[in-house]
Amino acid sequence: MAAPSTAWRNWAGTESAVATELAQPRDLEELSAAITRAALAGRTVRARGSGHSFTAVGAAHDVAVDLRGWTGITAADLETGLVTVRAGTTLRELNAELDRLGLAMTNLGDIDAQTISGAISTGTHGTGARFGGIATQVAGLELVLADGSVVSCSPTERPELLAAARVGLGAFGVISAVILRTEPSFVLAAAEKPEPLDAVLAALEENCAANDHFEFYWFPYGPNALTKRNNRLPAGTEPAPLSRPRQFVEYQLLENTLFGALCRVGRRVPALVRPLNKLSSNVLSGRSYRDTSHKVFVTNRSVRFVESEYAVPRAALGEVLAELRRRVPELADPVMFPVEIRVAAADDIWLSTAYQRDSAYIAIHQFVGMPYRAYFDLFESIVGAVGGRPHWGKMHTLDAAALRERYPRFEDFVAMRGKLDPTGVFANPYLDRVLGKLG
Ligand SMILES: Cc1cc2nc3c(=O)[nH]c(=O)nc-3n(C[C@H](O)[C@H](O)[C@H](O)COP(=O)(O)OP(=O)(O)OC[C@H]3O[C@@H](n4cnc5c(N)ncnc54)[C@H](O)[C@@H]3O)c2cc1C
Repeated sequence: MAAPSTAWRNWAGTESAVATELAQPRDLEELSAAITRAALAGRTVRARGSGHSFTAVGAAHDVAVDLRGWTGITAADLETGLVTVRAGTTLRELNAELDRLGLAMTNLGDIDAQTISGAISTGTHGTGARFGGIATQVAGLELVLADGSVVSCSPTERPELLAAARVGLGAFGVISAVILRTEPSFVLAAAEKPEPLDAVLAALEENCAANDHFEFYWFPYGPNALTKRNNRLPAGTEPAPLSRPRQFVEYQLLENTLFGALCRVGRRVPALVRPLNKLSSNVLSGRSYRDTSHKVFVTNRSVRFVESEYAVPRAALGEVLAELRRRVPELADPVMFPVEIRVAAADDIWLSTAYQRDSAYIAIHQFVGMPYRAYFDLFESIVGAVGGRPHWGKMHTLDAAALRERYPRFEDFVAMRGKLDPTGVFANPYLDRVLGKLG
């Protein structure tokens, strides 16, 4: 991990910024003092997560708050499953600490490098038709506001702030602690196999209903998808993971080293991309195993890519994929990475991509260094036609005027921001674009 610095670059290398000051608070008083000092000097403040957003949402231009020294679980109630965690804790650290307590997160996304605060602030999600994103597992927050005051919110204390700040884009203040609703640790059975895309789409509702966590990958030229069905097993079930050598060959060698090599060949010789896509999907064969939940949810992603992801009404998924399948082959530049499709239950968080809508998530990717603009523009036009909502941490071109139409509580969010941060202490250019300028 790079040493803390005023210079910042995101994981994909698509965004960078240089802050004028780096604050590394070790307690709440230091955090509050850093914010108060910045506000009095008319400077902006942005908390840093792990830099895994593809957008400039995390770019700090004045004061960057680095919370790497502010980690760990500080309280855990084994009866209720409520756990208080410091804001800078990564999901990897969180999962390890929860393991030791016999607890687990109900649902997770694909990786665990993000901080808990960064993950919830952009609406990070996994998959599962009956489950929400990580922010739906948040039962309370502690935040430091623009005037340096510390406030808490929960379903009974400032519930409106909780509804807004769980996916808050860092707009209301710096989160200092997150209270999570966890559950007793559990084992997931994982079943992965290639299947014809048409059959997967025809049985989408059944697949979503019959499996706790259903998702699939699809190379946008091919007829086949790679499906993943992860299902919760009864308490007391013992894990039976893939053998170590098989894990090494499949996760490290095939999915990262070999796939990375194929991507580099495709970047050099674009005419080979389609045959390489075919090779990649053939290499990804079926497997089944069972393991502790977070070890099944989380994968290793070492091949760098750029990504855009939109949530659409679940019923519109087939139409969107059919259009992508028809139009992607017409693009001048080929697409090297698969499309990932996941689902989530409707929730009540104001700027959640699944706000009041059972959703399907469609994530498109391109290998770093390969042309992606035309592909991403095409994608945005297709998902825009069905009211798609962009992931806040993934590439998109929408501004406040467009987003206002897609979020019923957008105005309430903006009003609360105006009330809590009238001078824009927590503003940055990305927030100016997606929420509008303050002051
Ligand atoms: C390889 C890869 C895989 C991914 N997989 C998934 C996935 O499966 N599902 C999914 O939904 N997304 C996924 N993402 C996107 C990622 O989860 C989000 O972009 C997430 O926000 C990144 O968390 P972070 O800690 O890196 O936060 P950053 O990107 O560093 O910051 C995100 C936002 O959170 C704010 N923030 C951070 N800490 C605080 C705080 N203490 N208080 C207030 N605001 C704060 C930042 O200011 C910024 O606005 C993936 C990204 C990558 C690169």
